[in-house]
Amino acid sequence: MPTRIRYEDRNQEALLPPKQRVSTFREYALGYSVSLALDEAQRCLFCKDADQRCIKACPAGIDIPGFIKEIAQGNLVNAYKKIIESNPFPSICGRVCPQEKQCEGSCILHYDVVRNRKNKGLAVAIGTLEKFVGDFVRISGLDLEEKKEPTGKRVAVVGAGPAGLSCAYELAKLGHSLDVFEALPKAGGVMAYGIPTARLDRSVIEWEIKRLEKLGVRFFFGWVVGRTISLRELLENYDAVFLGVGAGRGSLGIKGDTLKGVYSAIEVLTRVGLLKANQFPQSSTPIDLGKRTAIIGGGFTAVDCAITALRLGVETHVLYRRTRETSSARDEEWDHIAEEGAIIHWLTQPVEILGDSKGRVVGVKCIKMELGEPDESGRPKPIPVPNSEHIIECDSVIFAIGQKANPIAYEGIEGLELTRWGTIKVDEKFRTSIKGLFAGGDVVNGGDTVVRAIVHGKKAAKSIHEYLTEVSL
Ligand code: FAD
Ligand code: SF4
Repeated sequence: MPTRIRYEDRNQEALLPPKQRVSTFREYALGYSVSLALDEAQRCLFCKDADQRCIKACPAGIDIPGFIKEIAQGNLVNAYKKIIESNPFPSICGRVCPQEKQCEGSCILHYDVVRNRKNKGLAVAIGTLEKFVGDFVRISGLDLEEKKEPTGKRVAVVGAGPAGLSCAYELAKLGHSLDVFEALPKAGGVMAYGIPTARLDRSVIEWEIKRLEKLGVRFFFGWVVGRTISLRELLENYDAVFLGVGAGRGSLGIKGDTLKGVYSAIEVLTRVGLLKANQFPQSSTPIDLGKRTAIIGGGFTAVDCAITALRLGVETHVLYRRTRETSSARDEEWDHIAEEGAIIHWLTQPVEILGDSKGRVVGVKCIKMELGEPDESGRPKPIPVPNSEHIIECDSVIFAIGQKANPIAYEGIEGLELTRWGTIKVDEKFRTSIKGLFAGGDVVNGGDTVVRAIVHGKKAAKSIHEYLTEVSL
């Protein structure tokens, strides 16, 4: 197979044009055709030191050159099998991973080796190739799962987010019997109620759930552990329990946050993503952001609120106290919402929400910031600029900051050690301080990425298997 060294011609995934994008909640990134995928795969140099580059930078440690070589040779099923050795959900991660900060950020083509300078955007499109492979298997309806003989051991998983789903998948393949308890009516966690359908079509998640069901995993929806059933009862009735309950409690927090028209991001996203408020009155859930909304925050959640507000036809302002470079959201998504008309106010710190005499939001008082020395997170600390107060007029405010662990599942459980942030303490094997109870994902790390939650679930599954069988994998 000839390898072409090309720096300038990364194949761009087709996107719906911005005007069309804002008129629909359907996915706007349209994926590769077969010919584009083959062409892009041939851009890979299959570096000998890939384990120190893209593989190392992928939290799941996928054999990236290995799966791309399979695509280049036309073996899409082998490419899929290679990916799922490390990450069971390629269609999802190909869509939502911040690749430029992970795998693609370490691709040698990200650097112009000839002119010895960083040349952003020219890495092999690892994420789009991964999505292509996952979608190929999904759309072809192939069933490639292999399952071991039943072990007779029963495991309960609490929370059907990426951590819980990945844990359930790995354990079911090893022959254990799996029951997943989920508070909401659907599986997927943030992927189902947070990330807008415009970025992640729900049919992708539904297909992954069917894969798990085919492996024998049973889902119990509407079960709030800590209310419908206690964690103690689960520990008594199952051989092991995995807690993957996420960090889905939103927080507000400046003067004026009780005014009418103030929302948490999770409320807005759940109303639209899960309860279809965009279809009101055909759906039973309304949403009213007025004519103009101000979104406070600069991560994934803020961008997703902007995607949602723009599609609801609302003038959308995003207020972030830092800069794009220090934001955890994907670079390309900032570009996308700007193209769609979002007005982004960098280095802008809201200090108070202003209301009228009827208690309704009318604006946000802000100050400008500048960057100072690095803080404890290693990012430059934003410092207020004197006399920079200004008002951004709006009818609603959405807080997209400060996700917190929701402790309903485990509050009051004697002997369970928590961190000072209220997340669950685990050791390197994802064991909590209670025998037989494991945890992973956002409830452990306080809020990270989908792929990191998947990795936690997978590693915890390995550890649970060892605990149940005394056999190391
Ligand atoms: P979750 O996804 O939060 O799932 C936890 C599940 O547990 C939920 O379904 C919840 O209903 C259930 N649960 C909670 N309590 C109980 C209980 N008591 N009983 C039963 N069930 C319970 N990461 C990316 O990599 N890319 C992105 O583009 C991205 N976008 C994001 C957008 C938003 C709006 C948010 C909030 C986060 C985003 N993230 C993104 C981060 C990522 O989604 C999370 O890190 C990841 O979903 C964490 O997975 P999890 O399984 O730990 O928890
Ligand atoms: Fe890149 Fe995410 Fe795929 Fe890893 S899982 S190769 S980080 S897209």
